[in-house]
Amino acid sequence: MEPDVLLDTVAIRDWLYALWRAAGSCESEARLTAEHLIEANLSGHDSHGLSVVPGYVRSLQCDQLQLNQRISIVMDSGALLVVDGHRGMGQSIAAQTMALAIERARAHGVAIVGLKHSHHIGRVGHWAEQAIAAGMASIHFTNVVSRPLVAPHGGTQPRLGTNPLTVGLPRRNAPPVLLDFATSAIAVGKIRVAYYKRAAAPAGVLLDADGLPTTDPAVMYEEPLGALLAAAGHKGYALGLVCDLLGAAIFGGDTPLPEHLRKHGMFNNMLAIVFDPARFGALEHYERETAAFLEYVRSARCLPETQAVLIPGEPERISRARRAQALPLDAGTLAQLDEAAASINRLRGSALPPARSALKLV
Ligand code: NAD
Repeated sequence: MEPDVLLDTVAIRDWLYALWRAAGSCESEARLTAEHLIEANLSGHDSHGLSVVPGYVRSLQCDQLQLNQRISIVMDSGALLVVDGHRGMGQSIAAQTMALAIERARAHGVAIVGLKHSHHIGRVGHWAEQAIAAGMASIHFTNVVSRPLVAPHGGTQPRLGTNPLTVGLPRRNAPPVLLDFATSAIAVGKIRVAYYKRAAAPAGVLLDADGLPTTDPAVMYEEPLGALLAAAGHKGYALGLVCDLLGAAIFGGDTPLPEHLRKHGMFNNMLAIVFDPARFGALEHYERETAAFLEYVRSARCLPETQAVLIPGEPERISRARRAQALPLDAGTLAQLDEAAASINRLRGSALPPARSALKLV
């Protein structure tokens, strides 16, 4: 396996900002994209950080990803809205959508917003964090419109995306609770990272083309293609299915039917339910009860191999503290980033340095 390299966090964020500026993004889109992707790496989700950049660049080159788009409202009944992202950069489109949802939730107590036709929106927890920063709770059902990767429970061929489910709960003077995971047994980006690292995937998450269990990540990238299993058997499959129906079809978004797929395009639809918890009139109770309950949950005796019971959202905070100065990255992904910069240079006549210029000097 190739060793990880260490990147200077600030230098790689600046490099990524420069890459999207060179590609043609306006200042705010380049900044939102760079901040989002580096934050995903900082949070420990390398699957949704720098490793997605080569795919975004391919999508741009194939005229799938559209830069500098603004959302447009296609249905508006106050607290219920549908917006179109026009295949725009998900890191900007989702930020605009959440700003609108928060504004409406302030006015009405709750907002239910369907976002359709967005390019990949990355780590969905980021959008729950935008709501949390405004004191709002949120629930997100997201579907993926690109080559299906996940086999339905009992099936062997892929039919669904990795459709994440996300819930954010703000707390006063205490860290929020943030549930944010793919409904597949593992996020496909983690298989991609294993593939680049030439490492084995964990057992119990992949089927090969014959429907047999395997740990070879190549079954997701090389013919004959296999499939990811759903998380927790029929439960993850059912949640993933609901993400396609509630997170897309119900408000006019596409499911990953073959006729909706575009080569190299990676699109998301998202239903975000955003609400102000204070409107229930039980804020003092909520804060007290949550603090006491989380303490009680933590007090459970640990398994021998576990050091502590954690609360959803805590692993990401621990990772951010660990990675604040330096980001580990596998050499395979670094090489792909260098190629992505070279192709932007060819496309736009820019002079971006390679990503390895952000290596941490120790
Ligand atoms: P994961 O399996 O690492 O699970 C992460 C969630 O579980 C977090 O809420 C985390 O706080 C919690 N968690 C982890 N360990 C815990 C523990 N020991 N105790 C308590 N809680 C714990 O996540 P994943 O399925 O690999 O997904 C990673 C990211 O990928 C998510 O941010 C998701 O939004 C994103 N994603 C995006 C898309 C897309 O199309 N945009 C698709 C799939 C996944």
